Order: sequence, then structure tokens, then C-alpha cells
Amino acid sequence: MSNGLLSLSYLIGSVSFIIGLKMLSHPDTARRGNLYAAIGMTIAIVATIFLYTDKEGSGLGNYLWIFGGLVIGSILGTYAARKVQMTAMPQMVSLFNGMGGACAAIISVVEFKHMIHSGGDVTADPVLTMIILLGLVIGTISFTGSMIAFGKLNGNINDKTLPLQQVINIGLLALIVILLVGVVTGWISIAPISMMYILLIISALYGVLFVMPIGGADMPVVISLLNSFTGVAAAFGGFVYDNSVMLTGGILVGSAGTVLTVLMCKAMNRSLTNVIVGSFGGNKSGTSSSASGGTYKEISISDTAVLMLYSKKVIIVPGYGLAVAQAQHICHELEKVLDQNGVDVKYAIHPVAGRMPGHMNVLLAEADVSYDKLLDMEEINPEFSHTDVVLVLGANDVVNPAAKTDPASPIYGMPILDVEDASHVIVNKRSMKPGYAGIENMLFFQPKTSMLFGDAKDALTKLVAEIKSLG
Ligand code: NDP
Repeated sequence: MSNGLLSLSYLIGSVSFIIGLKMLSHPDTARRGNLYAAIGMTIAIVATIFLYTDKEGSGLGNYLWIFGGLVIGSILGTYAARKVQMTAMPQMVSLFNGMGGACAAIISVVEFKHMIHSGGDVTADPVLTMIILLGLVIGTISFTGSMIAFGKLNGNINDKTLPLQQVINIGLLALIVILLVGVVTGWISIAPISMMYILLIISALYGVLFVMPIGGADMPVVISLLNSFTGVAAAFGGFVYDNSVMLTGGILVGSAGTVLTVLMCKAMNRSLTNVIVGSFGGNKSGTSSSASGGTYKEISISDTAVLMLYSKKVIIVPGYGLAVAQAQHICHELEKVLDQNGVDVKYAIHPVAGRMPGHMNVLLAEADVSYDKLLDMEEINPEFSHTDVVLVLGANDVVNPAAKTDPASPIYGMPILDVEDASHVIVNKRSMKPGYAGIENMLFFQPKTSMLFGDAKDALTKLVAEIKSLG
């Protein structure tokens, strides 16, 4: 009876994951989708705690540990989620992802030890051994890699490339494969538990070295790849425990992460092989040959207001600075004021704008910007040539023409928003400092570009007031 109920709760959990994931694909339904998936997960967890029994009919027990962990984790998670600034969300996502990887790795350590201590021979069931160890390797890489990604996004860690970085990374990967095969076939005669710890250390090192050199504008690909690693590692855990909900959840996260990785690779014009061996360019010291300087011109709030008000068509390009300034609501206000004055306003969304996949969509959805106003790069690029004014709001790398013109630039080859095709480009940022990739942007020095310096929220508040007074 309890087994039937447990299976039913796993079915409910799995279905709610699938529905939740589907709903996450649209901003209008994403919040509810997240809630459905969380409810499904809660049902599966509670059912496991109270209904699971092993072959001898004993339940899980250890309730003090289980509920102690649940309470501490829930308090920490709720506190962190409530406190986190919108701009720190990408770091938080990396941290959570790393925790998922660590869980999968710990499950593997526990199960591997359990297998050895209960007299099991690792070569007797090579498939199970391989699954446990793959969970260990992938979960550990995901954990250490996510921790480095967290440090980078938080600004605590800079990109560092070792001499012979690619050779070292490929060497470590090869070593991991050899050790895996060695343990499973019994061909390496070191005690299995020692081998497991050696694998753990090498995987941890690989996770660090694999993410460490990646910089420039390439982090989004790595973040989605690490995400898929965690899903795959969790799915291996599901195999080990013969737990269908863990398997389904892991496969969904793994495949969604893989699809996102492929999309991000496409957006960045990079190949996945380059990601795996950590051979991206993107050292912030930069190899760009773009000369510093040149002259740029500034524009005042009132001139910006006049220019925008008398335009037929305006495209807003949001970037990371919009999130920093928390200017999404006033940005929506600007769009509405222009709209009331007969100006056609659209948003151009670059796939890697901000600091996490979908960052700009989430930010603008929070301000109730209509989804049909947001156009992806491929859709909006042909529209710039018949646009009067482009307002670049805290974006930099995603509109940097070096991606098209400077083969020495770390972002060379990345598709960008073709803002230069518009009649006027107004760039709002606080200074002439570079963006995430750490490189100069020659767009700012072009004759049709004007700089509107200041914090995006301040500048937009004044701009909206000025347009209202004119309109
Ligand atoms: P960038 O990081 O290139 O530029 C952001 C700009 O915003 C800066 O130049 C900064 O200039 C400006 N800014 C910061 N604060 C404010 C503020 N309060 N008001 C106005 N402007 C402000 O951002 P983009 O969105 O153009 O590009 C994203 C970059 O991040 C890409 O290189 C991408 O690869 C990378 N990345 C993306 C991830 C993703 O998944 N989307 C993940 C990790 C990295 P100033 O200081 O002068 O104000």
C-alpha cells in the first residue's frame, strides 16, 4: 500500500516538474510553473521520508538528521532568497547549482563506501559502479566549477590562464577516464576507496581549472553547461536509488541545461569542444588592438528627450547596468510615455545581456513590460536600419562592434546587436569604463553615438519627467 502511494507521489512529482518546466518558458506563467514544480518536489520528499521502506521493510529512520537538515536548509535558503539583490541573482544561481552538484557527489561517496563495506565487489556490477562514479565525477566538477563561477560573477576571482592550460585540462580529463575504467574493470590495483578519493580530488581540480580561464564574454555558456552537469549527476543518483522522481528531475535539468548550452554556444558563436577543454579566449588583460581614446560626445537629458519624442521608432537595448540600477520600472514608464506620444518602442534582447541566461527577460517582466515588445537579436537586427533612436541602457559588450571588426578581440565572432545601423545611438552608463569582457567599445566614439552619463535610474527618471513636460 505504502509502495503504491510512494509511486503515486513520485508520479505527481515528475508530472509537476514537466508542467513546471514548460511553464517556465514564458514570463507570464514562469512564477506559477516554479511553484508547481516546488510543490511536486515537496510531495516527493515528504513521501520518501514517511513511506519509503527497504527490502526488509524498514523505513528511513534518522528523522532528527533529516528534519534538522531540512529546517536548517529551509531557513538558509529562504533568508538568502529574500535578501539577495536582483544583481546578485546570477551568483546565487551558481551557488545553488554548485550545491546540487555537491549533493550528487556526496550520494556517490556514500553509496560507493556502502557498496565496498557491505562486501560488494566493484567489478561484479560494472554498470552500477560506473554510474556511481560518474555521479561522483560530474557532481564534483559541477560543484567546484560553480564555486569558481560564483567567485567570478561576484568579482572575487579574476580570469587566470596557466601555461599549457589546454594540455593540462585535456590531461586531467584523460586521467579521469583512465581511472574510471581502471576501477570498474579492476585493472588498477589500488584499494577502491582510495581510488574513489583520487577521482574526487582530480575531478575537483578539473572543475576549478576548467572554469578558471573562461572569461571575456563566455561565462554564460559555462554556467548553462555546469547546470546541465548537475542535472546529469542527479540523474545518476536516481539510477543508483532506483528513484524515478530523482531520475526524471535530473534528466529534465540535464537536458534543459544541454539545450541552453547549445543555444548559448550558438549565441556566442563558440563550439562546445572549446568549452569542454576550457580554451576560450577572454583574458581580461585583453588582446584587443582597439586604440584607447578618440573623442566622444555627450548629450543632455533635454536633448535626449526632444530626440526621442520626435522619433517615429525607438529601440531600447537593456544590459547589465539596467539591472544594477534597478531601473526596469522607470524604463517601462519611459516606454509608456513615448508610446502615448505615438512613438513605436521595442526592446532588443541579446541572449547574453546581463549576467545570467534570460536576465533581461526576467528583469523587464518584473516591470510588466509586455512580452511582445521584447525582440530577440535575430528578429530585431534588421529593424535597426529603419530606427531613429537606439537607447543603450547599461549595455556594453553586447553592442561592441569589435566582435565584428577586431579579430584580436576576446569577443571576436560573438554576434552583437547592430545598433550602429540606426540614425542615432544614445548610450547611458556612468563612465567610459568597460563592461564584463573588460574591453574598450569603439561604438562610444562613433559620430552618430552620444553618451548620456549617469546612473540609469536617475537618468531615466529625469528623462521621463522631461518628456512629460514636453509632450
Ligand atoms: P556589460 O557587462 O558588457 O556592460 C554593462 C555596463 O553597464 C557597464 O559598461 C557599466 O558601465 C554599465 N553600468 C553599470 N551600472 C550602471 C548603472 N547603475 N547605470 C547605468 N549603467 C551602468 O553588460 P552587457 O549586458 O552588455 O553584456 C553582458 C556581459 O556579461 C557579456 O560579456 C556576457 O558574456 C557576460 N556574461 C553574461 C552572462 C549571461 O548569462 N547573460 C553570464 C556571465 C557573464 P559604467 O560602469 O560606466 O556605468
